[in-house]
Amino acid sequence: MTQRGLLIVLSGPSGVGKGTVRKAIFEEESIDFQYSISATTRQPRAGEVDGEDYFFVTREQFEEKINNGDMLEYAKYVSNYYGTPKSFIDETLASGRDVFLEIDVQGALQVKSKMPEGIYIFLTLPDLANLRDRLVGRGTDSADVIEKRVAAARDELKMMINYDYAVENDVVSNAVERIKSIITAERLRVTRVFDKIQ
Ligand code: 5GP
Repeated sequence: MTQRGLLIVLSGPSGVGKGTVRKAIFEEESIDFQYSISATTRQPRAGEVDGEDYFFVTREQFEEKINNGDMLEYAKYVSNYYGTPKSFIDETLASGRDVFLEIDVQGALQVKSKMPEGIYIFLTLPDLANLRDRLVGRGTDSADVIEKRVAAARDELKMMINYDYAVENDVVSNAVERIKSIITAERLRVTRVFDKIQ
């Protein structure tokens, strides 16, 4: 019997660099897990490709998918829907391949309630002072907005307790190595190896 694949969920507060880390992981040639392409109602950014970065859909199409039970999870972020198509996850795991999701915290908690056997990785900041410095350095927000964002990040960091691993995103290549190490270790759990050789 084929052993089910692993479900790997990368999540974390907004602004922590989840998308950048995920892209860096999938640029590596040796990656042997599948990326779950999300659906979204937001407009494609320059260079984004439909069916590669996201499935870009209309609000009506997205709501139809929700009503049909086609979404494993979904969330609204800055007035757009984002969600994980369920059938790809089910089929890929059943075929024995591992699946990698990069989603926000609301979505990750929904997945965890349905699939507690997954591996939940929380991408985190070295510290809040670092976030403040980054926001100041970017120069796009007023001092007032920066403090609000730092306060929001402080709340979001508390969500870490719901996860299995916390990976600091100090330098992207370090975060990538840490995530790959977690996946390697999870694949070597005695229960998995034992099940496989039976
Ligand atoms: P962006 O618009 O920058 O591509 O993504 C915005 C946010 O949506 C990021 O935090 C990203 O992790 C999150 N996101 C992307 N895909 C999904 C998804 O399928 N489900 C959920 N819940 N969040 C997602």
